[in-house]
Amino acid sequence: MPEKILDVRDLRKKYGGLEVLRGVSLSVYRGEVVGLVGPNGAGKTTLLKISLGIVRRDGGEVLLNGVDPWVEPSSREKVGVIFERPNLPSSMSVREFLESAARLKGASESDVEWAIEAVGLAGHEWKEFNKLSAGLKQRAAIAHALIGSPEFIIADEPTSNLDPMERREVLTLIARLNKELGVAVLVSSHILPELLRVAKRVYALSKGRIVAEGEPQEIFQAKRLARIRTTEPERLASRLAELGLEASVEGLSVLVRSISSPSIVYEALTKAADEGIPVLGVDLVEPALEEVIS
Ligand code: ADP
Repeated sequence: MPEKILDVRDLRKKYGGLEVLRGVSLSVYRGEVVGLVGPNGAGKTTLLKISLGIVRRDGGEVLLNGVDPWVEPSSREKVGVIFERPNLPSSMSVREFLESAARLKGASESDVEWAIEAVGLAGHEWKEFNKLSAGLKQRAAIAHALIGSPEFIIADEPTSNLDPMERREVLTLIARLNKELGVAVLVSSHILPELLRVAKRVYALSKGRIVAEGEPQEIFQAKRLARIRTTEPERLASRLAELGLEASVEGLSVLVRSISSPSIVYEALTKAADEGIPVLGVDLVEPALEEVIS
């Protein structure tokens, strides 16, 4: 197993009386893409800022590159950061902005060239930010994060202000940077399906707690729901429960939750139908985010 680039244990944070993080543990290994999903207000930004050592924690431990980032700011040196709404100077060109970042980080002119190429901004580099689309601005923010050859990128909702096509492009770019440069990524989103495409592992955060962790597809499927139409819902629900499924009656339907594989449901339904219980139709319902993280 490669070493952990970020290791967060039992993290706690309060704002006034509000417990924003209530014992969160999470880790990112070198070279992997990890997703952090949760609705607005779940605590994602707070968790990422504490992981970077720019917000103070109230309890728990954080190791970034093996050291506490609150005590040792140099732990951030090889970490690129992308925020939800990049704060880009509107009358500066992409090129000027990246050059000034390179000077601050002690990076070279060729790093700027490389970052512009890497994010596909060649041809736009002399444009001022106020002339760029949201998608191109986000690319510039990613280029900014790449200056200084980071080993780890922390991206806080990098797609949230983008249209569907721009979202796809930004995620594809993040996946490509991981693949080609081996850079580890921790990326947050309030949309789980979006993370299915880039992250090998996902943590779901709800009200300051990790409520699920694993491969995104597994988390998603485990919360899938089947709605079965029948004229005898009580009888069908109790038979499905006997067959080991989590079934409940809703009007003239039976809802089956936590489906690890659709074939298990179909086998149980075939059995029930063979025994004379009417099965009129089955719909698989993809989970809403509330389902996934509750
Ligand atoms: P998310 O990124 O998942 O939307 P945040 O970490 O931004 O969640 O916020 C979690 C909760 O903490 C919210 O209720 C938010 O209002 C509160 N919060 C965040 N930052 C502050 C702050 N500086 N002062 C007070 N409350 C805050």
